[in-house]
Amino acid sequence: MIYEKLELFIDGKWTKGTSDKSQAVINPATEEVLGQLPHASTADLDAALAAADKGFKIWRATSPLARQDIMNKAADLMEERKAAISLNMSLDNGKPVLQASLEMDFVIGCLRWDAEQGKRAYGRLIPARIPGQRQMMIKEPIGPVAAFVAWNFPASNVMRKIGNALGAGCSIIMKSDEETPSAVIAIARCFQDAGLPDGVLNVVFGVPSEVSSYLLDSPIIKKLSFTGSTPVGMLLQAQAAKRMIRCTMELGGHAPVMVFDDADIATAAKLCAATKFRNAGQVCISPSRFYVQSGVYDEFAELFTKHANALVVGNGTDPATEVGPLIGERRIDVMQDLVDDAVSHGAEILTGGERLGNKGYFYKPTVLKGVPEEAKIMNDEPFGPIAPIASFTDFDDVVARANKLEYGLASYAFTTNGAAAAALGDQINAGMFAVNHFGIATPETPFGGVNHSGYGSEGGEEGIQSYQRVKFISEIGV
Ligand code: NAD
Repeated sequence: MIYEKLELFIDGKWTKGTSDKSQAVINPATEEVLGQLPHASTADLDAALAAADKGFKIWRATSPLARQDIMNKAADLMEERKAAISLNMSLDNGKPVLQASLEMDFVIGCLRWDAEQGKRAYGRLIPARIPGQRQMMIKEPIGPVAAFVAWNFPASNVMRKIGNALGAGCSIIMKSDEETPSAVIAIARCFQDAGLPDGVLNVVFGVPSEVSSYLLDSPIIKKLSFTGSTPVGMLLQAQAAKRMIRCTMELGGHAPVMVFDDADIATAAKLCAATKFRNAGQVCISPSRFYVQSGVYDEFAELFTKHANALVVGNGTDPATEVGPLIGERRIDVMQDLVDDAVSHGAEILTGGERLGNKGYFYKPTVLKGVPEEAKIMNDEPFGPIAPIASFTDFDDVVARANKLEYGLASYAFTTNGAAAAALGDQINAGMFAVNHFGIATPETPFGGVNHSGYGSEGGEEGIQSYQRVKFISEIGV
């Protein structure tokens, strides 16, 4: 298997950079070294900033139609190279290659949607108070963007930001995660080959806090977009505030699922288990707290466990694999701590609860029943393959439990009662809420959280708008 050549992409050129620092990229399924990733020096970051400044001037002056043409060409190339990109993503992230391929489909869909939507940066004419006066609101691209993203979706986390930025007419410096660099590099190669002007997209790597501090100190950067945990989001927002840089924050979550007695339990259990263990549970909108009404509690737990036991865990490059490894050894320790803590609070392990094998970072799909609210896993985002199940009897009680955390990213319910679904839609404290399914991430719909899960949407027209600024123009006598 040929792994991606690891380089920085600055001002339209591939480079090893001028620093002598680098880090090994590890395959989480085998613990083998895949390659050595160069870190950018401050001189390289200065070059990326200058390139983004230059690239912004070129790109904002490029018509939305011409931008769309280049973005669509890049999407065509991603389609052509999808198999190789997906395989590399499976190598450095560990995810099953089919899931990586579906992620690329989503990425291509986002890029095409943003390319199209970029043509609709409509303003408006506002009736004036004085005869002969013309008042207009226009939308402009905000400027060069700095973006930092987590490793769990190495292609789609990246494209959510690149697609929105380029569609709006911005340039961007992207620092994806150092553990999963192949996808962003392959994506940048597609843009280069599609004819994207030099400097519009730049890709750097390094020590995350050093790179972000350096870029956010620069007067060139006008927008920060971050996908990652809440504590890091808070830190970056404070840094951005020093220069009044506008932010989009896609942060952590701990999504409740409320399963009511009247739901189709067989379908709910199957969908819940499949979605819970997708990407080994390392998904910000993963269903991660299951509240099941008492009449169907035992049945749901039994069916859910049956589906969990049937999942094939293994190396993501094996086409039969459904659940791959966790990203690193550190996550195994976190999983074990959450399970041990739940058991110490009285939870029962229905399946799993331990590491799998001693090579690679595999953890068994785990189902816990009778998990009390005080257990850590009902309060801390697990970001892994553990499903805690608890029961409820009363509507108001489950809503209060679902809403109890500072997080507010995704929430889900399974019910056939329209009135209950409507009441939940009103009362649930989250940026996204789905009834009887989990499909809340599409290119055309707004994706984002509230409270400690962040703010600002990616996707939908709201996604592009967060990379635009508003200008009011008033004219008399012209
Ligand atoms: P993390 O915040 O520690 O790291 C996320 C990314 O930010 C990594 O690439 C890391 O290298 C980088 N980073 C860390 N410190 C940084 C700094 N000072 N400056 C710039 N970059 C920095 O989170 P993690 O535990 O690695 O990732 C999982 C978290 O990300 C979870 O909380 C998850 O919910 C969240 N997430 C959210 C979304 C969303 O869209 N809401 C999507 C994916 C992941």
